[in-house]
Amino acid sequence: MEDKVGLLKELQELDFELSQIAGSSGKLEDELDQCRVERDRIQALVDDLADEMSQIDGQRKELKQSVLHEETIIARSEGRLPDIKTQKEYVAVLKEIDTAKATMRELTTKLEEFDGQYNALAEDRDGKEEELSGLQSEFDERSASINKDLADLAATKKKKDATRDKLLEKLPRAIANRYRALSRRRGGMAVVEARQGTCTGCNMNLPPQLFNILLQSNEIQSCPHCSRLLYADEGQI
Ligand SMILES: [Zn+2]
Repeated sequence: MEDKVGLLKELQELDFELSQIAGSSGKLEDELDQCRVERDRIQALVDDLADEMSQIDGQRKELKQSVLHEETIIARSEGRLPDIKTQKEYVAVLKEIDTAKATMRELTTKLEEFDGQYNALAEDRDGKEEELSGLQSEFDERSASINKDLADLAATKKKKDATRDKLLEKLPRAIANRYRALSRRRGGMAVVEARQGTCTGCNMNLPPQLFNILLQSNEIQSCPHCSRLLYADEGQI
């Protein structure tokens, strides 16, 4: 029969290491999430800019169509001029041409405005795309390294879990169950040292008699205040 207190101390140490592994894994996962969130934020900005550009581009196409339409009107009217017989009709056609030319100037000015907006957006988008590409490389690099670390941690955890199972098997079932329940209830700290008459789990004084028993025997004792399992290292007065 192995020393139960020794097994419990080993188990507690192992659980402490396992909780550190869980903490490290959690931090790495959070870091990866943050990189992802930042990358997605910039990606969304790029997408919004692209949407806006495509809207403006649609309006530009409509304007270009209208310009073409006015050009057709002008060409058609100008073609009619040599065949016109009356001055009245001549004046009317000239007026038609003037109106079409004025409309065309307006349309062209608007088109230039849209071109300006489009180019400004394109510049903005190019800048964001560059930033995005930097973030993506950073993310790829960081996620490769983090995933490797996470895999290492998972492998270590697997080994420690197996050792933990073996340790729990070596303990009498009642004690193993008590350990599990205490560990859950007491934030993963089920086995603590009794030092100088005090439980280091809850910092309460232990009855002197209990402390003496702990120093003299290797039997498992519980703290009367927090129920944690106690051990006392040798060499204490
Ligand atoms: Zn205690």
